[in-house]
Amino acid sequence: MKASQSSFFDGGRRLQMTESIELTIQSLQAYGPDHPHWGIAWSGGKDSSATLTMVIWLIKTGRLKAPQSLTVFYADTRQELPPLAIAAAHIMDELRDLGMRVEVVTAPLDKRFMVYILGRGVPPPNNNTLRWCTRQIKIDPMQAAIEARLSDFPGNFLMITGVRQGESAIRDQRIEMSCGKDGAECGQGWYQKVLPEAKGLRGRIATLAPLLHWRVCHVWEWLKHWAPMEEYGDWSTATIADAYGGDEAEEINARTGCIGCALAEKDTALDTVLRNPAWAYLAPLKGIRPLWRELREPQHRLKKAGLERLKDGSIAKNPQRMGPLTFEARLMGLDRILSIQQECNAAAMRQDRPLIDLINADEEARIRQLITAETWPEGWEGDEPRADTVMPVVYQNGAVQPLLF
Ligand code: SF4
Repeated sequence: MKASQSSFFDGGRRLQMTESIELTIQSLQAYGPDHPHWGIAWSGGKDSSATLTMVIWLIKTGRLKAPQSLTVFYADTRQELPPLAIAAAHIMDELRDLGMRVEVVTAPLDKRFMVYILGRGVPPPNNNTLRWCTRQIKIDPMQAAIEARLSDFPGNFLMITGVRQGESAIRDQRIEMSCGKDGAECGQGWYQKVLPEAKGLRGRIATLAPLLHWRVCHVWEWLKHWAPMEEYGDWSTATIADAYGGDEAEEINARTGCIGCALAEKDTALDTVLRNPAWAYLAPLKGIRPLWRELREPQHRLKKAGLERLKDGSIAKNPQRMGPLTFEARLMGLDRILSIQQECNAAAMRQDRPLIDLINADEEARIRQLITAETWPEGWEGDEPRADTVMPVVYQNGAVQPLLF
């Protein structure tokens, strides 16, 4: 066992792995029996994969009474890191072999990350003004899938999520929404908050995070060492831990996210994947994050010329705000992503490694169709000036500062 693990497992004040599992069982025993139907929201990342495999193992070994039905909802954002997507495919096979029902949940074509940006022209998300992605590619599709499934069942439904907060979870029960905290997965906290409130689900669905109190080192320990053993379910979870850096991952406390997530400070997970020689052929993926940053620049976007009147008649707070991507920018972005995909796949074929699928044929066709149809996001006509056009500055009170030269 590594030194870091020893210090963790020797540490008297820290929870032991078995105690953590015991608390997990207690939480499921406390809330499970009131809900005849269970679902597990699974993103393929470390926390929700640990949750999924743990819950199924507890049921299989009789430590937990099985619900009347259990559905695994795999949130396929189409933006997952390839090793995680591949591990998820293996685990789905294992689940189906066990007779589990697995539903793959994907956003509708027009709402998918690539189509929304490159086809519809909505700028890539950022932390400040425009964070549309988590809800659109993760939360809303999950909500719709559960709503559809709930119509099959009478009675209460328990949605199990991979939200995890470590030891602080024991101290206070508030669910942190931040996906950066303790390396938590993007979106998981939102499932916990948004699903029970959702129209159509209200009153019938409760959410439970049975690994809420797990520290990140518990997660690695489970994924890497326990779950792959036959007595704990023989799961293909070691690949997930390896995708985050194998043994080192315990120290890295890596955050799960989309390939090239423009909101993360660094491409930590991708960098770690690329350090593994078997995945080094995916190096062109490093070009995605800079592309999203570049597309947010003024030369690739339109802007409002002056004061903007909103639908309700009020004046928008930010005159001359920057808006959607020009057609040229969208085509440039599409071409760049397709080149990255082609480069990775040419190397994959040479090395007999898995191919990747950033934009599939349907998505590419839809992106081109939306551009050809001159589609603009709501509130934009396409006749606005390009955002790098030098113009007199307009203030919200209507005052104009003319150009000085
Ligand atoms: S990982 Fe990043 S890009 Fe993906 S949904 Fe979350 S914030 Fe958005």
